[in-house]
Amino acid sequence: MIELNRAGYVYKEGGPFERNALEEATMQINKGEFVGIIGHTGSGKSTMIQLMNALLLPTSGTVTVDGQVTTDKSTKLRDIRFKVGMVFQYPEHQIFEETVRAEISFGPRNQGLSGQELEDRVNQAMEMVHIPQKWSELSPFELSGGQKRRVAIASILAIRPQVLILDEPTAGLDPASRDKLLKEVRNMRDNLGITVVFITHSMEDIADIADRIIAMDKGRVKFDGTPQEVFSHMEELDKMGLSVPEVTRLTARLGLPLCFTVKQAKAVINKELEKHNA
Ligand code: ADP
Ligand code: MG
Repeated sequence: MIELNRAGYVYKEGGPFERNALEEATMQINKGEFVGIIGHTGSGKSTMIQLMNALLLPTSGTVTVDGQVTTDKSTKLRDIRFKVGMVFQYPEHQIFEETVRAEISFGPRNQGLSGQELEDRVNQAMEMVHIPQKWSELSPFELSGGQKRRVAIASILAIRPQVLILDEPTAGLDPASRDKLLKEVRNMRDNLGITVVFITHSMEDIADIADRIIAMDKGRVKFDGTPQEVFSHMEELDKMGLSVPEVTRLTARLGLPLCFTVKQAKAVINKELEKHNA
């Protein structure tokens, strides 16, 4: 679905404030996959995903979205932006309409939808992230941080993207809102079958749901593999400023299969105890 081939990005190239944000990134996002991208602040995550919906064009290498190279003259960037929907790092900054319904209608209206078709599209997007109808006429600015993020996600889902990119959707949320948002994302994954790219610096957020994890370090793709594979590099992840979940460390120390959640660990430990007691 998306392919980066030695893609790089330099901000303010040639100027005194030149910044090399991404170097030689090569990777693929396959259709239907749930990919987690982790990395410390400044490691190039946001830059990389902006290349994926052609908000930024690579300053070296290529990015291909659904067969179209973003830097080709014939590529319509508008089509790419409808295919690859992006929820920004602080989605509250992405919200600008007066009501929740107007906010969620904005994208599909831009795609040419109107009347009942538009209403249906908006209602479905609201249902996907469990936004109650009674919020429709509220100002998005009256909502809590977590609620605003669900509105931002719904407004992107309403354009029916093939790929949904979420840039640190849980950052700055309290634990309850964070868990609720993660649950919505899980539901989406199970029910929609769309391709999801989820950026976070908290490995606990994604270890349990991602098919694949890409770990970024200083503008480079450092690891790319299943959560099991990536988390087996525990020491290097530590050096990259990423904290491996406590329970993962514990299962590693016990020589057990790596677990990412307490629930998984409980099952694995119980099984070991049964073996031991038999
Ligand atoms: P992350 O999302 O992992 O925190 P970013 O992609 O935002 O990383 O940033 C990568 C590097 O590029 C950082 O060094 C950052 O300071 C720099 N950078 C990001 N945005 C800009 C910008 N608009 N202008 C100049 N430098 C930038
Ligand atoms: Mg970022």
